[in-house]
Amino acid sequence: MTKIRFETHRCKGCGLCVLFCPRKNLRLSDSLNEQGLSYPEEIDPDGCTGCGLCFRMCPDTAIEVQSPKKDNQDKQ
Ligand code: SF4
Ligand code: SF4
Repeated sequence: MTKIRFETHRCKGCGLCVLFCPRKNLRLSDSLNEQGLSYPEEIDPDGCTGCGLCFRMCPDTAIEVQSPKKDNQDKQ
């Protein structure tokens, strides 16, 4: 399964990742980060296709997409 990791402290809450997710699988949080800004969270962890669009759209490199194709998947 693709894992999305958000560096919430780098997020400025612009919402671009939410807007561009083709699965509509992201939303901005009710909680706030250290700067008092909302940050993205996944709606359904199984709903992500790993397309990487959110990662590519983020102007602050606050998103990391870990594809299941990567070799670290089996490490627990
Ligand atoms: S990788 Fe694609 S499907 Fe998954 S959250 Fe990002 S934009 Fe949405
Ligand atoms: S695109 Fe980046 S900075 Fe904007 S809300 Fe998403 S994670 Fe935060």
